[in-house]
Amino acid sequence: MSYARQGIITEQMRAVAASESLEGEFIRAEVAAGRAVIPANTRHRNLTPLGIGTNLRCKVNANIGKSELTSDLDEELRKLTTAVKYGADTVMDLSTGGDLDSIREAIIAASKVPVGTVPIYQAAKAGGGIANLTIELLLEIIEKQAQQGVDYMTLHCGLLREHLPLVDRRLVGIVSRGGSLLAHWMLDRGAENPLYTHFDDILRICRRYDVTISLGDGLRPGCLADASDAAQFGELEALGQLARRAWAQDVQVMIEGPGHIPFNEIEMNVRKEREICQDAPFYVLGPVVTDVAPGYDHITSAIGATMAAFAGAAMLCYVTPKEHLGLPNADDVKAGLVAYRIAAHAADVARGRPGARDWDDAMSRARVDFDWEKQFELAMDPETARAMHDESMPQENYRRSDFCSMCGPEFCSMRLSRGARGKLKEEADADRLGCPLP
Ligand code: SF4
Repeated sequence: MSYARQGIITEQMRAVAASESLEGEFIRAEVAAGRAVIPANTRHRNLTPLGIGTNLRCKVNANIGKSELTSDLDEELRKLTTAVKYGADTVMDLSTGGDLDSIREAIIAASKVPVGTVPIYQAAKAGGGIANLTIELLLEIIEKQAQQGVDYMTLHCGLLREHLPLVDRRLVGIVSRGGSLLAHWMLDRGAENPLYTHFDDILRICRRYDVTISLGDGLRPGCLADASDAAQFGELEALGQLARRAWAQDVQVMIEGPGHIPFNEIEMNVRKEREICQDAPFYVLGPVVTDVAPGYDHITSAIGATMAAFAGAAMLCYVTPKEHLGLPNADDVKAGLVAYRIAAHAADVARGRPGARDWDDAMSRARVDFDWEKQFELAMDPETARAMHDESMPQENYRRSDFCSMCGPEFCSMRLSRGARGKLKEEADADRLGCPLP
């Protein structure tokens, strides 16, 4: 951000511009204004720079990480590979169990995409429980993770004591892990949020390693009944003020968003964030638009994510089918990511991003041509597309056919339409040449 404000287009800005089919100067201006971030810790080797902002292609994050009850390092690295294979633009290591430093180190070393963390998880464990947390320990852990090469950190700096009474009116209360840990600490100590009181110290660390702060929404609604309430918007106001303080120190900032929101309130939520936080990139989790489909929350939330992205959200945090039920495995990571890539791409098409629609048009041409190989190649999930096609058309020669098992040769509308169009063209050609067809 410092370079951007000095008018310097860095190597990272150039790389982001190339990947977005935009000019380097455009990216520089977006970063300088705080409308885009390039999370790129100076210590994260092998990182491919990535831009996140409303005026850039919508990005998708995948959460991975070991819980206290399940998973191991190999499984987490498999999840990382799966996540990147299916298009995760960033990953967050949300590990709360095992050797947290080693897991993080392995994930950063293996990841070419930006890696995010939530340092309060480790801080809560390191002190032997949240009640023992001290500000010194918290800053030490933030600095250690920055030294390891973490590109962005979720820090719930805007959850203040004055917001806590507002939570009493809620149906579900606080559903953010970081938010609930901090609320517990504040009530226990009768003190203000240490991430808020020591925000300047945090900024110094983030500036040193070029860590982007993702200002967490500790009070995001965890059910439709709690959506868009005073607690959520009170915290958002505080996040807006903190964003301005971060920018004053040239520290890049994103704003995290809900959560569970009825479909008709999503656009208003995005508009509010953009106004209060002066277009700082909005990073939303879902939102889930109905609470009644556990096992399918990659779908309930991808519906909300599409709307949020269309309204201007810059990055979508995926939700897997396991949400509300358990720790996702590699299959869940894939299902969540595909759902979110669809959401992000649909929004990119609708917002007219450079090149977004070209992908759809190429697929449509391949369909009209019955070019099945091309269709598989262009598919967001080529393996599944191929397997589904071949499942009902297994004979080798049928795979090249100008129909599929959905309608069969007699009723294939694409085939019939192609025949009809061919006939119309013949008639038009004959008319032009003055020789009527028989
Ligand atoms: S058979 Fe039906 S589904 Fe299959 S290509 Fe033809 S129109 Fe499409």
